[in-house]
Amino acid sequence: MKNAPSSVYCSNAVYERPTLQMDEKGWRGADLIFDIDADSIPTPCKATHAWWYCGDCHRGGMGNKPGRCPFCRGQAAAQMHWSCRECLNATKEHVKRLVDFLQDDFGIDGQSIRLYFSGNRGYHAQVQDERFEMADPQIRAEIANYIRGTGFSLKVQDRVSGRAELGWNRRANLYLAATEGASHLKKNQKLTNQIVAANAALIDESVTTDIHRVFRMPGTLHGSSGLLKMRVDSLEQFDPQKQPVVLSGEPVTVQVYYSPEFFLNGMRFGPYDSSKVKIPIYAAVFLLARGLGAVINN
Ligand SMILES: [Zn+2]
Ligand SMILES: [Zn+2]
Repeated sequence: MKNAPSSVYCSNAVYERPTLQMDEKGWRGADLIFDIDADSIPTPCKATHAWWYCGDCHRGGMGNKPGRCPFCRGQAAAQMHWSCRECLNATKEHVKRLVDFLQDDFGIDGQSIRLYFSGNRGYHAQVQDERFEMADPQIRAEIANYIRGTGFSLKVQDRVSGRAELGWNRRANLYLAATEGASHLKKNQKLTNQIVAANAALIDESVTTDIHRVFRMPGTLHGSSGLLKMRVDSLEQFDPQKQPVVLSGEPVTVQVYYSPEFFLNGMRFGPYDSSKVKIPIYAAVFLLARGLGAVINN
């Protein structure tokens, strides 16, 4: 309690003796888990709001990170991404697709799928279904690849057979029916790629294949944002820039080194460049957790 941790995690695995060393714990199964991050969803707007920050001289700029920091000539410039509304909505769309795969293709009951906001800019899904608990990494990799559409190949001829289509074939046929002109395209790789891009959920496969992964614990703050990892009951109504803001709105004076504009709790902050500002504590923590500023003691 004297030294509050910046992050709290818990494992997706169940162990017989969880307090012992890793090889003595006795693995008894693990929840099937998924991670979707805004960073990994390709959105056309990304290039317009990419920025970089130099950890050495605490300065930054918009665009892709330079090889050397133009201010101090050091090599500590890091690429930064903050998500805009469009990026956040695209991420939600991928979560919806994931839930659709889990329910429709894997027959998982909606009640067994728990969705969480990660506390940063992504979502976690945790499946509590005993059919998957004992699945080894290989099985989990197959599930992940299926959901990402890896290796999907188009079989348009199935469409005329009149059979009820399932899985990826159903998605492919819906795409072809909805996309005017797509039927004129050849069954080539380009069309396959389009169908996959329109339907796949870009989950992080390294998370799903892990049978002893630690996930941020729901109800705790994300160490790099000060936002809450929280259960999401209604994806439609959830605003990742609002509900997870749980810290105080009391004002505090901060020297902000650099920050593009960002939105929290319905308010716009920044852009800042060597600015002394009075902002709510939740916005200050959001910046300080990334080393972008320091509190000024009055
Ligand atoms: Zn620098
Ligand atoms: Zn964006």
